[in-house]
Amino acid sequence: MKNFEDKWHLIAIDGVAASGKSTTAKRLAGELGYNYLDTGAMYRTVALNLIQNGTDNDDNYAVISSLETAYIKVECKNDQMEIYLGDEEVSGKIRTNEVSKLTSQISAIPEVRKKMVELQRELVKGKDFIVEGRDIGTVVFPDADMKFFLTASVEVRAKRRYADLKENENSKTLDEIEKEIEERDLRDSTRAASPLVSAKDAIEVDTTDMTVNEQVKHLTRIIHTDMRKEPQVYAGE
Ligand code: C5P
Repeated sequence: MKNFEDKWHLIAIDGVAASGKSTTAKRLAGELGYNYLDTGAMYRTVALNLIQNGTDNDDNYAVISSLETAYIKVECKNDQMEIYLGDEEVSGKIRTNEVSKLTSQISAIPEVRKKMVELQRELVKGKDFIVEGRDIGTVVFPDADMKFFLTASVEVRAKRRYADLKENENSKTLDEIEKEIEERDLRDSTRAASPLVSAKDAIEVDTTDMTVNEQVKHLTRIIHTDMRKEPQVYAGE
């Protein structure tokens, strides 16, 4: 797959909230020697900027204007990604419940999406990438070499998120987290602009009964099987 020196390869991983996209995408990037891009982190950083500036989040005009002064920088190196708001590395700060909730609100605004998609297409140019998000296989990179769509039962996803947050002084109950995940999925999949939906040519993987290791193994096997076939080369924009 790597013999095409002037082209590059792209694997899209979309799916519902807390379905294991990030962990799986990161581990796959490590195994395949690809770079890793978490597009959710980009939308989250837009939301963090709004919170830090005390912007009225219900005022779409104010949210769109904030994009002009939000200096968001992404650095991808192999399976590691750093995201900056101005000079500050914000990977940790964007993981709160407050940010998650606001992110799914403001990511429904077409102008916000347009700006993020431009950045995403620019970032991956010329390098092999695993890109995770909600609209990667449908809108951002419809010509991706391979597309996956991850799902899992909401109960299992809430438990996984609860365990993650517990390590960071979580004050939410399991029921509250489950409700938040359901609300976020509903907002993401019912919005008019680039809704969360599986691409027609995506391979759907239900991770409900899989551990992280099993998810990675499962996807790796599918990718390697595909690689043995006539390679598809991503020509990009
Ligand atoms: O993947 P993550 O949970 O970090 O994404 C946070 C939110 O960002 C999602 O709930 C969704 O509203 C938004 N998002 C999006 N398009 C993407 C990635 C994330 O709308 N490509």
